[in-house]
Amino acid sequence: MRRPFVCGNWKMNQSLTLTRDFFTALGRESVPSHVQLGIAPVALHVTTAVAATNDQTVEIGVQDCHASESGAHTGDLSAVMARESGATFAIVGHSERRQNHKETSEVVAAKARAAQAAGLTAIVCVGETLAERQANQTLDIVSAQVNGSLDGVDRSQVVIAYEPVWAIGTGEVATPEQAQEVHAAIRQQLGADRANIRILYGGSVKPANASELLSCEDIDGALVGGASLDATSFAAIARAAPASAEA
Ligand code: PEP
Repeated sequence: MRRPFVCGNWKMNQSLTLTRDFFTALGRESVPSHVQLGIAPVALHVTTAVAATNDQTVEIGVQDCHASESGAHTGDLSAVMARESGATFAIVGHSERRQNHKETSEVVAAKARAAQAAGLTAIVCVGETLAERQANQTLDIVSAQVNGSLDGVDRSQVVIAYEPVWAIGTGEVATPEQAQEVHAAIRQQLGADRANIRILYGGSVKPANASELLSCEDIDGALVGGASLDATSFAAIARAAPASAEA
């Protein structure tokens, strides 16, 4: 059984006040217990978010971490520090990191290994650009990213997020068929651990489209940007996750 995981990526959004308000509002929502919930606020707000969860079963994570434990890396944060602050997972290899910070799959794998070494669950993001999809390269690009980004990573402890770059923040969501095709191909590639590894879909997931995406055989949850900023829509997406995904 793969427990559904609905995880919010707040990117560089939400003030401290809005962070606290979100968890107060989430506490008023009905959220199914079969769904694992996570929120990755800006790193500066992790400790506030951890305190604000107030025993709600929401895990708090970071949106990135450095591959080293400490050192001369101005502006970065390590997985160990994130863990100390109460984070339980780290998103690595988000397309905005790959594009804006020129992160290669090799770098992403090093970050995922560091996250796991620190006791965090690594959520490894992969996904093709629009040009790559239009050139029929989607499966090759994603396969290469999965291979490179999981190098040396403990697959039994990893979560993968398939996020087509063209669907992130654009309102243009992949169809369930498009998403399922890539998820199935990723799972096929994962070898012995494939049945237990959760593969999340990300890219303009909203309450209105969550149900048909999350019902797909190989989609085990969602990585949600914009719609995770509001507790009501985040909870609605969580409620759309079916009770279990069979391994
Ligand atoms: C994301 O940034 O991971 C994401 C999926 O964003 P959005 O839901 O806003 O497309």
